[in-house]
Amino acid sequence: MKHILNRYFTYKNKELFCENVNLKSLAQKYKTPVYVYSKQAITDKINQYKRAFSSYETLICYAVKANPNLSILKIMAENDIGCDIVSGGELYKAKKAGIPSNRIVYAGVGKTDFEIEYAIRENILSFNIESEMELNVIDQIASKLRKKARVSIRVNPDVDPKTHPYISTGMKKSKFGIDIDQAIDVFIKASKLKNIEILGIHCHIGSQIMEIEPYIEAVEKTVKLIDTLKKKGINLTFFDIGGGLGIKYKPEDSPPSPEDFANAILPIVKHTKLKLIVEPGRSMIGEAGVLLTQVIFLKDKKEKHFIIVDTGMNDLVRPAMYNAYHHIVSVEEKDEKIVADIVGPICETGDFLALDREIENVQRGEYLAVMSVGAYGSSMSSNYNVRPRALELLVDNDKVKVIRERETYDYLAMPELIENK
Ligand SMILES: *Cc1c(COP(=O)(O)O)cnc(C)c1O
Repeated sequence: MKHILNRYFTYKNKELFCENVNLKSLAQKYKTPVYVYSKQAITDKINQYKRAFSSYETLICYAVKANPNLSILKIMAENDIGCDIVSGGELYKAKKAGIPSNRIVYAGVGKTDFEIEYAIRENILSFNIESEMELNVIDQIASKLRKKARVSIRVNPDVDPKTHPYISTGMKKSKFGIDIDQAIDVFIKASKLKNIEILGIHCHIGSQIMEIEPYIEAVEKTVKLIDTLKKKGINLTFFDIGGGLGIKYKPEDSPPSPEDFANAILPIVKHTKLKLIVEPGRSMIGEAGVLLTQVIFLKDKKEKHFIIVDTGMNDLVRPAMYNAYHHIVSVEEKDEKIVADIVGPICETGDFLALDREIENVQRGEYLAVMSVGAYGSSMSSNYNVRPRALELLVDNDKVKVIRERETYDYLAMPELIENK
């Protein structure tokens, strides 16, 4: 048995398995492209997070945007995990999956009036406020509804998380949060608003963070602010430290574990006695998923060898968008290797899964597995080129459940038929 990145995906007799399910037979039965998730990988990660923070009162809020599939949200609900949402649609799905309102926090720089009203009516735990104007609008809408809205103020601690610039969110020039030196002023203003209850403070510095130091720096800066606020008579209940922990994309990657994360920050937070919120997205689900795809054609140009597969940037945009690396292996282990670009069918030069990659010498009709696609894979997929989105499957030991049907051409055309009946 040979592990590929983690113990949920292994070769047994040269065939790739997810837990105890053979991935080639899955691909043949359900057709490709198909996302396959290991339930064990998800529940193990949940328990790892719970254990890491068990010594301190902590609410774990899964960041829904990483993967909003209802069945995955239900796993979170069954395990008493809350949600970090960034839209009304995510709130709807979280509620539908059975996540209680008092475990839902809502971030995002552009909440609309409609979304704010919806979330106030649902009585969520906290709005994580990203600007002073947002604070005032929430106060007004709450007043209209004759309710109080609980808020946390998202501060921007100006730390470099040393990750991709597109997923760095806690630096001065970023659109997220309120600069830490302006935060006291906003807290004081918030404390004077009639329909606002200040619940806590929030920071989230970025994603795919591979070192613990940026967290320490952000938490130290924020704790200083918490202490100052206390002196000014503003007492908080929650400290929401966001998400962002990295995952293994390459075999040699070694991201910090939830334990490393907890052990680094708990000693800094303890004296504040605030309840903690953590918001893991990618690290909760990222390594639990693979994308299976079939080789359609092989093509040789003088300079390059191309493997053309039936999935592309419509199903997995991360390589095109962030130049992200995803490990790719043949579903049937092979000894012979070649170097090739693995590209999709979409009419864009940016539509690749890997460039100049050493890969097994796969043939037309054979299958590849794109690894570590559980987070920001399906959730960022689109119908570009009018391609139905991939089917999604959840594997539990030797059982397989369809958790998202493949979209049909009729489904894709439906919203436009209004003009063409
Ligand atoms: C996206 C996001 C997260 C999750 O980030 P990951 O890197 O996926 O863990 C957490 N909190 C907020 C506010 C976010 O926007």
